[in-house]
Amino acid sequence: MTNEAIQLGDLLDQFNTSDEVGQNRLVYNQQWLRNQRALILLGQEHDAQATVDDYGNVSLDFPGQEISAPIATGSHMDTVRQGGRYDGLYGVLGGFCAIQKLYQQGHLPKKPVRLISFSEEEGSRFPAAFTGSNYYTGHQQVTPLVDEMGITFDQARRDAVRQLQTIPGVRRQRAPLPASFTELHIEQGPRLAQAHQSLGLVTGIVAQDRYDVTVYGQANHAGTTPMAQRQDAMATASHLMAELYDLANKSSKSLSFTIGEIHVSPNVSNVIAERCTFSIDCREESDERLATFLTDMQVVIQHF
Ligand SMILES: [Zn+2]
Repeated sequence: MTNEAIQLGDLLDQFNTSDEVGQNRLVYNQQWLRNQRALILLGQEHDAQATVDDYGNVSLDFPGQEISAPIATGSHMDTVRQGGRYDGLYGVLGGFCAIQKLYQQGHLPKKPVRLISFSEEEGSRFPAAFTGSNYYTGHQQVTPLVDEMGITFDQARRDAVRQLQTIPGVRRQRAPLPASFTELHIEQGPRLAQAHQSLGLVTGIVAQDRYDVTVYGQANHAGTTPMAQRQDAMATASHLMAELYDLANKSSKSLSFTIGEIHVSPNVSNVIAERCTFSIDCREESDERLATFLTDMQVVIQHF
């Protein structure tokens, strides 16, 4: 084992080498592959047993006094398109540095320790998220997925994973589940900075639900159709959206409600809209409060 102290900042620089705008480690692409490979080699250099499963999740196992299920930490290796320097990678490399620090102090921990670099969390290349951790925990998704270049998930997965699994010394299997898992992750909101805190503990995982709402009208001439005789999908949708925002604002403080995408047809400035589709993204710490809000929301939409 090398005894040099590993600096997290240096590691982040080594793994964030993209000269594009932001980081583009979409699952199974070249940059993703390069980093998973570099992590395996780094682990091996520090006497870890590397395991790569069939979805490209990397586990680095370090010994403990006991032979038992390990205490694990880590995060996801993939990024969104033009992702940040820290999202995912901070939890992988920060976890690695923390483990190294533990062993460099000369104590063999009671339980074995594992670092996990999940293959995918973001859903940025294929239209499915958490494929890495789902597989890791035995919940394999069978939906056939295709990226925007027409490459199937299975093809991309097999090509990339084969290259990792042939690294000498790598164990090819689904790693048995750890006893516990802790993830270090950058906060993706303003609350810690506003509170002048550097660290926060997550107290809950939000329940999330997404919808598309489509409002139908009748396309017609913008100049000659009297206002009172229109079936304007855009007018109806905008009033409906305003009502949904009112409902969300009156709901619990922990609810996040977002309409972030809107499509209008025919999307022509002098034609009354025939169809308007908008997205809804709802997140809430409490399953019950989310269910209540979704019921209220559906009542508003159905009676509109
Ligand atoms: Zn993340």
